[in-house]
Amino acid sequence: MTAKPGTSDNPLRVAIIGSGPSGFYAAEALQKQKDYVVEIDMFDRLPTPYGLVRGGVAPDHDKIKSVTKVYDRIAQKPNFRFYGNVEFGTDITHDDLLQHYHQVIYAVGAQTDRKLGIPGEELLGSHPATEFVAWYNGHPDYRDYEFDLTQEAAVVVGIGNVAMDVARILARSYNELVKTDIADYALEALNNSNVKRIYVLGRRGPAQAAFTNPEIKELGEMEESEIIIGPDEVDLDPLSQEYLDNTDDRKDIRNVEILKEYAAREPDASKPKQIIMHFLTSPVEIIGTDRVEAVKIVKNELYKNEKGVLRPRATDQTRTIEAGLVFRSVGYRGVPLPGVPFREDWGIIPNEDGRVIIMDTKEAVIGEYVVGWIKRGPSGVIGTNKPDSQDTVRIMLDDLGNDIHLKPTEPSSDAVEKLLGERNVRYVSYEDWQLLDKIEQERGEAIGRPRLKLSRVDEMLDAIEERKRQEA
Ligand code: NAP
Repeated sequence: MTAKPGTSDNPLRVAIIGSGPSGFYAAEALQKQKDYVVEIDMFDRLPTPYGLVRGGVAPDHDKIKSVTKVYDRIAQKPNFRFYGNVEFGTDITHDDLLQHYHQVIYAVGAQTDRKLGIPGEELLGSHPATEFVAWYNGHPDYRDYEFDLTQEAAVVVGIGNVAMDVARILARSYNELVKTDIADYALEALNNSNVKRIYVLGRRGPAQAAFTNPEIKELGEMEESEIIIGPDEVDLDPLSQEYLDNTDDRKDIRNVEILKEYAAREPDASKPKQIIMHFLTSPVEIIGTDRVEAVKIVKNELYKNEKGVLRPRATDQTRTIEAGLVFRSVGYRGVPLPGVPFREDWGIIPNEDGRVIIMDTKEAVIGEYVVGWIKRGPSGVIGTNKPDSQDTVRIMLDDLGNDIHLKPTEPSSDAVEKLLGERNVRYVSYEDWQLLDKIEQERGEAIGRPRLKLSRVDEMLDAIEERKRQEA
């Protein structure tokens, strides 16, 4: 077939790898354009769609999760198919995609975490925040992870929104958590938790905090936990004060106001847990023989670098915090996909405006594109992905207009399904997911919770099969 794809006889076939927000926004942009007839096949390694909306967004942030209603509408369009439980690289390979699609979009996000690079980081009890988040959200890969919540003190390193989520979930009461869709085993473990002090360490000052206003406000409104910030922590250094006096960034201005208000609060002895925030503080060593026993920290000062950015620099003041758990929350990181270029230093797929490129030559890889965190790194909120995905789709359509696309030999969903069948892949369709979604909600309803997640892949697949048999 040589005619340009995008007609009803020869639809443009696009594979999207990953079913998180960026993948769905790319699908939406493809559905909204009017020039080409498009068929979209979306793949995910999990049986469940929505990526970090299911596995990352904190369970007590149910309003944020309601964005899935938008994705649901996208998925219900006739030109969209979902293939869950299909792993890229094994169940479907890069070569397979070239056989079946005109264009491929990688929307795989950032599946691992950044490290601190300090001694003791590998000790038992030191964890990436990303693993804790995936655990309490019922991600099948992490549901059997163990976190020693018999410890009384935990240290969270970093002051982004993920750090806020981790500190908050550790500090929430049972009453607060039971109303959410937190995984049942995590609810039980947190209910039995002994953690009473949660230290949160920011390497820079209050005016440089990465968290946003609603997230820091929430820490001051918890049922069983108070936030403790020493008055000297919010005494701004001259560089931060100068920045704040001249910035229009409402987020930073408001963050500092909220933090100052916390610093002025009277202690509340009625609350059994404390979130203790330290700024201008970095861990330099995690101390322990067999497991984490303490964290050595250093006081930082700020300096202005050559780009005018305020950066932290260690002073010689160190001290030790006793704590048995450490969660490093210093950013997510992408992982390489088999057969796809990867930029190791940034943890992304190298690209120019969303077109995948070969690192050394900067040459574009025909027909392959990226969206979301694997395109730009792990920054921004869910909504940031919408314009980002639209930009990539615009580039894809430009390329198509210039007849730049893959030349698949078997451009059909039937061929893909046959291939998956031959490989014995138990793939999950969108209709299957809808059944699972219903099952989880019914399970929740039966015990007065919004949802009771299934967190093992086999359980999910069996539950879908059983419901199909019942409904047949
Ligand atoms: P983030 O916002 O980039 O925050 C990372 C934090 O780690 C920053 O405080 C950073 O400090 C610190 N950090 C980095 N390297 C460090 C080091 N070596 N030592 C000490 N601290 C270090 O990342 P994130 O919290 O993982 O969140 C990722 C994205 O998801 C963000 O855009 C976030 O807003 C979003 N998100 C949103 C929500 C929500 O809307 N509720 C919830 C979760 C996540 P510096 O600033 O000094 O680099």
